Amino acid sequence: MNSLIVATRNMGKLLEIKKILEGVHYRIYSLADFPDLPEIEEDGATFEQNAVKKASTIAKISGIPTLADDSGLVVDVLGGRPGVFSARYAGPDATDEMNNAKLIEELRGVPVERRGAAFHCVIALCLPEGACTTFSGELRGTILEAPQGREGFGYDPLFFVDEEGVSLAELPLERKNRLSHRGKAMELLKKNLPRDGAE
Ligand code: IMP
Repeated sequence: MNSLIVATRNMGKLLEIKKILEGVHYRIYSLADFPDLPEIEEDGATFEQNAVKKASTIAKISGIPTLADDSGLVVDVLGGRPGVFSARYAGPDATDEMNNAKLIEELRGVPVERRGAAFHCVIALCLPEGACTTFSGELRGTILEAPQGREGFGYDPLFFVDEEGVSLAELPLERKNRLSHRGKAMELLKKNLPRDGAE
């Protein structure tokens, strides 16, 4: 069976990605299985640049095909912020709670019709020899004034999915994966995984 590294230290993302990859004929590793691999600075201007940088660096060093996700929240009224800075919106060591508190503050007083936003995700799949393919997904929604729900991670409790009538943090993992930015990008990737991963 071939191997695949999922290059993330974000446990929420890892859980979602592993769920989607259930049943593929690859042995899935995460960065926790390779504690000596270096931390990669996400200094790209786009989700795509960051995803390719993470996946290609780890694939080259490890010699194993690697998948990396870069994702974030793009808020219309904030001109696209926090975007690629979503994880560090409230500062370099920000927690999800700190980032959510900052978002609530920045949108205080903004009426519901101007609270539109989207989650973006780019997944890069890179081979040790250097070739990379990318897959993208997007989910539009509305930013709530206060958190709702306890599932998921990151900005999920503040992200209202209009067609579902609930926040992302109120959806079970499988339901979130069916409609989320990451779920959509991962489904495209899954269709393009080389079949020689089969036993
Ligand atoms: P990065 O891709 O590791 O740079 O971080 C992405 C950041 O965007 C996360 O730390 C979250 O704050 C946010 N984010 C990305 N995807 C999601 C999601 O599915 N739900 C909630 N927040 C997300």
